[in-house]
Amino acid sequence: MALEKLGKALNSALRKLARSSTVDEALIKEVVRDIQRALIQSDVNVRLVLQLTKRIQERALNEKPPAGVSPKEHVIKIVYEELTNFLGREAVPLEIKEKPTVLLAVGIQGSGKTTTIAKLARHLQKRGYKVGLVCTDTWRPGAYYQLKQLVEPFKIEVFGDPEEKDAVKLAREGVAYFKERGVDVIIVDTAGRHKEESGLIEEMKQISGAINPHEVILVIDGTIGQQAYNQALAFKEATPIGSIIVTKLDGSAKGGGALSAVAATGAPIKFIGVGERVEDLEPFDPKRFVSRLLGLGDIEGLLEKFEELQREQELKEEDVEKFLKGKFNLKDMYAQLEAMQKMGPLKQILQMIPGLGYSLPDDAVKVGEEKLRRYRIIMDSMTEEELENPDLINYSRIKRIARGSGTSTKEVRELLAQYNQMRKMFKSLDKRKLAKMAKKFGG
Ligand code: GDP
Repeated sequence: MALEKLGKALNSALRKLARSSTVDEALIKEVVRDIQRALIQSDVNVRLVLQLTKRIQERALNEKPPAGVSPKEHVIKIVYEELTNFLGREAVPLEIKEKPTVLLAVGIQGSGKTTTIAKLARHLQKRGYKVGLVCTDTWRPGAYYQLKQLVEPFKIEVFGDPEEKDAVKLAREGVAYFKERGVDVIIVDTAGRHKEESGLIEEMKQISGAINPHEVILVIDGTIGQQAYNQALAFKEATPIGSIIVTKLDGSAKGGGALSAVAATGAPIKFIGVGERVEDLEPFDPKRFVSRLLGLGDIEGLLEKFEELQREQELKEEDVEKFLKGKFNLKDMYAQLEAMQKMGPLKQILQMIPGLGYSLPDDAVKVGEEKLRRYRIIMDSMTEEELENPDLINYSRIKRIARGSGTSTKEVRELLAQYNQMRKMFKSLDKRKLAKMAKKFGG
C-alpha cells in the first residue's frame, strides 16, 4: 500500500480518539500533535502541517457535531475532510476527448518516467484505447529500448530512432506516424537528462510547440518528498502542466511530503505509481486515498464501521435490497470485496448485529489485495453487459476476457466461481434478519 507508515501513524492517532470515552480539549490537542508528528515524519512541509493541524484543531474544538453523530466520530470526520482537502479534494480524471489525444510526458531522469509511460499506456489500453508511444530521448539511446521492452507484452507500438539527434523532429514524425495509423492516444516521451536543467526545459518547450499536445503530464519521484514542490513549480512555469503523476509511493518514507507539495502547487495529481510493475498505477482520488490511508475501517466500534461504509457508499440499503432480491452483479461483488478488505470480513460486521451470528465461510467474503487487483484487471476487460449480467459469460467470452486482460482462463473462471459463491451466500441468508440490517444501514 502507498504511504503505509504514514497511514499507520495517522490510524493510531485516530484510535486514541476512538478508544476514549470522552472527547475533551486535551485529547483533541494530543491527537492533533500525533497527526503533526506523523505528517512531518512523512516529510510534509512544516508550514503546511501547521496550517492543516490548526484548522483541524479549530474545527474540532468549535464545531458542534450534527445530531446523531458522536463527538469522536465528528472529529474523525474533520480529520478525514481536512486531509482530503489537503491532497486536492476532488479526483481529476485524465480525459480522452479527441481522437487522437496527444499527451506529452516530461520529468527528470530517474523519476520513473519511462516506467510510468508504459503503465499509462497499459491503463488506457485496458480501457479500450489504442495507444502509440513516441520516444524523443536523443540523450540516452537506451530509453527507446527500455520503453519498447516494457510495452512489448501488450503489443503497444513505440516510435523512435536511437540514432536520430533531433528530438523535435522525432516528436513531429512520431505524432504524424500514429495519426496516420488511427490510434486514439499518442504519448510522447521526452528526455529526462540534459547537461543542464535549463536545456531540458528548453527542449520540452520546443517539442510542446511542435506537436501542440492536449495535455502535458509531469512525472515526479515521490521519494524526493517536499522537494517536489520546487520541481513541480519549475516545470509549471515553463509549460502548462495539465496533470502530475507521483511515482514510487510504495514504500517511500517521504511520499506524504511529495503528494502534499504537489497538491500545494495547484496542479492535479491524476495518478500515482505504486510499484515497479506495469500494472502498478492507480488513478488518484483524494477521498478514497485518505480513507484508505486512515484505515478508518480498522477503528473499533460498530458505528465507525457503519459510518465509513456509508460514506464510501459501498454497502447501502439499496445494496442490501439487491441481495435480498438476488440481484447481485460483478460490480457489486467487487465493491463488496473492496469494502470488506478495508473493513475486515463481512462476517465480523454481521456478528456485531445482535441476533445475526452467522457462520459465514471466510474465504467467500475476503480476498487479498493482490487477488483484488487481479479481479480489477480481469473486470476491466469485460463489457458493461457482462459486468451487469455475469451469467452471459460463456467459454468463448472467458477466453476473450483472459486474452484482453493478459490473465488466464483459469483466473477468469476463479473470479466467476467467487461471484457465484457470494451470490449463493447472500441468497441463503435469513431474509428477515437481512431486512432488519438493511434498515440499520439506511438509518
Ligand atoms: P526514468 O529515468 O525517469 O525514465 O525512470 P525509469 O522509468 O527508468 O525508473 C527508474 C526506476 O524507478 C526503475 O527501477 C523503476 O522500476 C522504478 N520505478 C518507477 N516507478 C516506480 C514505482 O511506482 N514504484 C517503485 N517501487 N519503483 C518505481
